[in-house]
Amino acid sequence: MTLDESDAVRRDADDPGRRSMFLVPPAAGGRYEESAYLVGNSLGLQPRAVRDEMLAHLDDWATLGVEGHVEAHDPWENLPQRLALPSARIVGARPEETVVMNTLTVNLHLLMVSFYRPSGARHKIVIEDAAFPSDSYAVRSQAVLHGLDPETAVVRLRPRDGEDVLRTEDVIAAITDEVALVLLAGVHYLTGARCDIPAITAAGHAAGAVVGWDLAHAAGNVELRLHDWDVDFAAWCNYKFLNSGPGSPGSAFVHTRHLGDPSIMRLDGWWGTEAATRFDMAPVSRPPATADAWQISTPQTLALAPMTSALQLFDEAGLPELRARSRRLTDYLIEALDAISPGRPLEIITPREPERRGAQISVRVHGQDVGQLAKRLRFEHGVLVDSRKPDVIRLTPVPLYSSYHDCWRASAALAALC
Ligand SMILES: *Cc1c(COP(=O)(O)O)cnc(C)c1O
Repeated sequence: MTLDESDAVRRDADDPGRRSMFLVPPAAGGRYEESAYLVGNSLGLQPRAVRDEMLAHLDDWATLGVEGHVEAHDPWENLPQRLALPSARIVGARPEETVVMNTLTVNLHLLMVSFYRPSGARHKIVIEDAAFPSDSYAVRSQAVLHGLDPETAVVRLRPRDGEDVLRTEDVIAAITDEVALVLLAGVHYLTGARCDIPAITAAGHAAGAVVGWDLAHAAGNVELRLHDWDVDFAAWCNYKFLNSGPGSPGSAFVHTRHLGDPSIMRLDGWWGTEAATRFDMAPVSRPPATADAWQISTPQTLALAPMTSALQLFDEAGLPELRARSRRLTDYLIEALDAISPGRPLEIITPREPERRGAQISVRVHGQDVGQLAKRLRFEHGVLVDSRKPDVIRLTPVPLYSSYHDCWRASAALAALC
């Protein structure tokens, strides 16, 4: 039994979100014009304002050439510093703790150069066994960089038998006095489960470890208070929930406690010296006591351009409002999936309690090829979800632009195909 379509339409009229600010891809099949786009956890949709913003940068380049660094409508040389302000608000950081640069995995490496300092027995890195592969590869190579064996230096935590999500108490118990670094995901990419960042950070510190967070699936999805939670460092991308476009630069956070500390190692470049004397061409860097000290190279202006309008939408809506709508949308999606699940091979693996998850609902599909299922959802029903081998599909109604009708379409299409 699927829920009633007209009820979904009525909910959209009462609780419309900001879909009109975005470009929704046309459906590749089915009877509706627009896609039901439930993959904003992978690549957020294009805000309408982005095209003009990008064209304005191209016009500045055409008419100003190199003078655009200072004279462009949104001057190129300190665009990352302006973008650090909305970026900081999204994660509950201070502006000086936040820097926009590079991409996520590169930033994790740069931050581990600073914050993974194995010494004697205290040398291990704790991650999840089901960590995103890039994070797994990054921590292994960091261990090798320090002359350690990644098989013993990297501790991979598994959920208990029969469970999909790590328990906070099991994570805390694993932080022994051999652990130098804990690096976990704020929201898990596969299960959509939210980690208890303040509890694990505090326990890690009590055990003498540094605690860093990969916020790829958390930033712009759930409310965060990185400064107050005393997180050591964090990194996230801006192309998932933050809608800044394919390959957009990442953001990084370093807590004020560590800013300006001369004992902390960094890899330096001319963009990490203080801005006022950057062009003095001095032989030795003078890094500022801000997260900007972690910058290395010239900012990627054309890739940064969409972020101005994309992040502004978060300031306009406010995360509390977005999170509240996200709860309403996901509650509806869960209800719609529960309505079709009896007699079908579908099992929600994301925690049901709203405070233990964000916008993503992951569903295990038993005995069916999920890659094939995702294709049929797209080409026969115009519903975009993504699949992760061997048996999970992820459905993410994004509170800025997704509708109740998108959720209804996903459940109706799954009912037809499973
Ligand atoms: C999306 C994602 C990445 C991607 O990293 P890039 O360096 O931006 O390609 C890394 N880690 C996690 C947990 C992710 O979700």
